[in-house]
Amino acid sequence: MAFDIDMIKKVYSQYDERIAAARQIVNKPLTLSEKILYAHLWDGNATEAYERGKSYVDFAPDRVAMQDATAQMALLQFMQAGRPKVAVPSTVHCDHLIQAKEGAEQDLARAKNESSEVFNFLSSVSNKYGIGFWKPGAGIIHQVVLENYAFPGGLMIGTDSHTVNAGGLGMVAIGVGGADACDVMAGLPWELKFPKLIGIKLTGKLSGWAAPKDVILKVAGILTVKGGTGAIVEYFGEGAESLSCTGKGTICNMGAEIGATTSTFGYDDSMERYLRATGREEIADAANMIKHHLTGDPEVYADPEQYFDQIIEINLSELEPSLNGPFTPDLYTPVSRMREEAAKNGWPLAVEWGLIGSCTNSSYEDLSRAASIAKQAVEKGLVTKAEFGINPGSEQVRYTADRDGLLKTFEDLNATIFTNACGPCIGMWDRAGAEKQEKNTIVHSFNRNFAKRADGNPNTYAFVTSPEMVAAIAISGDLGFNPVTDTLTNRNGEQVKLDPPTGDELPAKGFDVEDPGYQAPAEDGSSVEVAVSPTSDRLQLLDPFPAWEGTDLKGLKLLIKTKGKTTTDHISMAGPWLKYRGHLDNISNNLLIGAVNFFNDKTDYVKNQLTGEYGPVPATQRAYKAAGVGTIIVGDENYGEGSSREHAAMEPRHLGVRAVLVKSFARIHETNLKKQGMLALTFVDKDDYNKIQENDSIDIVGLTTFAPNEPLTVVLNHQDGTSEQIQVNHTYNAQQIGWFKAGAALNIIRSNQSK
Ligand code: SF4
Repeated sequence: MAFDIDMIKKVYSQYDERIAAARQIVNKPLTLSEKILYAHLWDGNATEAYERGKSYVDFAPDRVAMQDATAQMALLQFMQAGRPKVAVPSTVHCDHLIQAKEGAEQDLARAKNESSEVFNFLSSVSNKYGIGFWKPGAGIIHQVVLENYAFPGGLMIGTDSHTVNAGGLGMVAIGVGGADACDVMAGLPWELKFPKLIGIKLTGKLSGWAAPKDVILKVAGILTVKGGTGAIVEYFGEGAESLSCTGKGTICNMGAEIGATTSTFGYDDSMERYLRATGREEIADAANMIKHHLTGDPEVYADPEQYFDQIIEINLSELEPSLNGPFTPDLYTPVSRMREEAAKNGWPLAVEWGLIGSCTNSSYEDLSRAASIAKQAVEKGLVTKAEFGINPGSEQVRYTADRDGLLKTFEDLNATIFTNACGPCIGMWDRAGAEKQEKNTIVHSFNRNFAKRADGNPNTYAFVTSPEMVAAIAISGDLGFNPVTDTLTNRNGEQVKLDPPTGDELPAKGFDVEDPGYQAPAEDGSSVEVAVSPTSDRLQLLDPFPAWEGTDLKGLKLLIKTKGKTTTDHISMAGPWLKYRGHLDNISNNLLIGAVNFFNDKTDYVKNQLTGEYGPVPATQRAYKAAGVGTIIVGDENYGEGSSREHAAMEPRHLGVRAVLVKSFARIHETNLKKQGMLALTFVDKDDYNKIQENDSIDIVGLTTFAPNEPLTVVLNHQDGTSEQIQVNHTYNAQQIGWFKAGAALNIIRSNQSK
């Protein structure tokens, strides 16, 4: 469980020199985000000033964190690298695969039973390769990371979009796909487009019912779900310093909902208090030594317009509690306007559930503030109108909250205490009656509220708010209830008012825990066997992809020419397929089933040129593979946009597709294809897309002299006996051409290991 103080001290020891080098090159005062990024360049000291939003830069992250759903493929790939241990400190957290239903004890037992092979695999592979393993029930990845591993000025990646939560402790922490995590664990650099910077100046101080959650709900309302794309959001100002560390975590967490690369805060007293309270005095002492590097330069914050690409100012003293939703986290409604907005939009006013938890809002402070409302309800004779569910963020938070009577307070209101896990936040909620799909309203302290996200019911109107507001609104059972002004009728028919919440930033008696649920890896893992059953339908060990045969590719059949948007969701769908994320062959049965076939406007319906028959894409591709016939996918603009999931590149590779030729690529998907040894090509003349016919056999010529910046030739052999030649571009550098020739990037890493 121990954080790696030697690693942290090493990072801090480099700060002086690296910041000095960056200062000289950039030649102006630096923001905190720039300091952290320039201090983590893969090649050491800066030698050029990177252009925000343009330059692609190699970084050296300090840590990797993975959750149980995404860790499976990341680790299956890592196993192919042939390393005895991970190159950087890494952890796995079992939190996504636990369904909330009856309560923690029963739910956890059921999940351990149902997903035992996944948990056993993750446990054994972690044990073998030096990875810290947090068992099911130990907590939600981002709360556990904040409590144990995050440190000011660090750079971390995680295979989950809310990795950004660690910005609450002054990190630059970024959500990535499994392939990126695998590379970093295998000792390779991690590439990122140098982000733009949005500065948010916080003035004033929160009071009354306003909470840190209201800051990010307001920001989401201003920037919308796309407004932070490609940018780091850096918070500063006296208001920032007045917030608790976990409150800062909440704000950074929901930066994912505005599309931001990440969000962060400068190191301050609240972070020092949190580090000391969570047993990390050594980190606090080390951070204090380089405090001036762990925040932006004073000139930056004095004149932020000069140094950020965009500036927003929020006065915390004027902030009103709010609820965002339904169906999108950026639809901002201050509580004072909710009754009117709900009436106008037909949002059901009766609230059926109030849910407190998720990685966004499940700290001790969150629970204590919500409990202060619950306690008043009991004392003032109120009866809860809605049902209550609580997911504590970690076993440490749960144990401490239980010791301090906070959980008992909720139980007095008939709350169900669910497992320390994601639960309803990721749809792992067996909500009674959800299948009836009735229109209803819930309020929760999570981050996302897209249709069906919590309970699978498209007619559940979910509103995101702070934990204390969840408590107040669940007690009232009324979405329009404004605790700032309204009263409630108690058992005796009296009108009572709820006082504003109170709470403890940190537990007065300190944190405590009996069994945090951590498994340390074996010192020497060489004899540890990794548990994967050959008959499993959820896990499958990977075989290395074969090396290039050394010749041009001739006679490739067209598998599909996709029309319009082809996102990674169209290429490898989520939903019910999530459970096969650790089984490449099974999940390959979703290959391109969401993409539209140019020739018939249908999804999952393509021609098998060998038989002339039409059928699903995966079955057709399997038929080509069985016949030993290579294939090619042709696509439209921005092919592979969306989530960075590596399955979208691994599936076609696994099923025998050799190349993807498109008008343009989403860059991450293009890189993922390269890593898996595929040919990722673009039309020199985009109109050549129209020359591709359904019955074409296609040759790719020039591979024996494959070189950077040299176009390749594609020959289209049409069914009528005619043929056409077109030019295609690629962006492979020399190293990436090596990946293609070796069959995959991991094949190269493995062969380097064995030398
Ligand atoms: Fe993701 Fe929700 Fe789990 Fe957080 S609690 S990691 S948002 S599923």
